[in-house]
Amino acid sequence: MHALALFGHGGPEQLRYVNDLATPEPGPGEVRVRVVATGVNHVDLVVRRGYPGVTMPFPHVPGGDVAGFVDAVGSGVSGWRVGDRVVSHPMVSCGTCGLCLRGDALLCVRWQYLGLHRWGGYAEYVVVPSANLVALPATVGFEQAAALPVAGLTAYHALHTVGELQEGETFFLWGGAGALGTFAVQLARRRGARVIATASSEARMADLARLGCDLVLDRRHDDVAARVAAFAPEGVDVALDFVGPATFATSHAMLRKGGRLLLCGMITGRETTFSIHMTYLKHASIRGLYLGTHAELEALVGLVASGDIVPEIGAALPLAEAVEAHEMLERSAVAGKIVLAV
Ligand SMILES: [Zn+2]
Repeated sequence: MHALALFGHGGPEQLRYVNDLATPEPGPGEVRVRVVATGVNHVDLVVRRGYPGVTMPFPHVPGGDVAGFVDAVGSGVSGWRVGDRVVSHPMVSCGTCGLCLRGDALLCVRWQYLGLHRWGGYAEYVVVPSANLVALPATVGFEQAAALPVAGLTAYHALHTVGELQEGETFFLWGGAGALGTFAVQLARRRGARVIATASSEARMADLARLGCDLVLDRRHDDVAARVAAFAPEGVDVALDFVGPATFATSHAMLRKGGRLLLCGMITGRETTFSIHMTYLKHASIRGLYLGTHAELEALVGLVASGDIVPEIGAALPLAEAVEAHEMLERSAVAGKIVLAV
């Protein structure tokens, strides 16, 4: 099969297009998906450079987003047939640990992430457990679907479940024009929240205004904390921060008393310091998260099928140009999701 495979950790040059990888066979309970579209995510950059604590044999196929057709079905699989249009949940859970058994498969202690612990979507074929699949209605295109498993699902889980964002609350996020951001802005608006988002170019700020943000700030030139304080004098109810140490202190300081700070990324680094004092004085909650549940992915697919949420596709490139896609992501070249046609 053809694939865009990683041949070592490092820069984009470690990604090479190949057409001689063995096509994987589905085992019991698994299906093989003919990938039509996959997405590029920040975590792919981390995998490429070397994910902390995870070692992998090379070549390795990255990619957490999988949208395509069921191509082959392993033994014991029911409910799926060759040719079904599907999108895959990006995490494989063990089904036997205590957290799985109590129904929290998302928190599985033996979790495997597509494109990290096992081969992912940057390939013609990928094998996943049939339990990971979500049926794709004909009204949802494969490129749109490829934006959902990582970026869309994380935004959905962050706002609906972890952040408990309510109607009338104020929601703040950095980098609102990215893939996760464009979903988060739409989902927050749909929940009736007031939305403040930052961007770092005039074009991306215009995108955020188009998506319905109530306040759009220029991360390069605006005093973000002061502008947010003027807009929401008591602080924001929920802040979403996937940037990391570069923005954490400001995110924390912008929270209202009782506010929630959601962490789901580390673009500028893994560690930071914070004020224990201000955290308890504020009754602040710092909540971490990744991805979302299978049921949440189904709900999100439904919202896209009905037109309530429209995935922003900033660029669609052939798989062979994944190196260019990584570089575009690193320099925030487009609004929304960068997808790869496989
Ligand atoms: Zn488990």
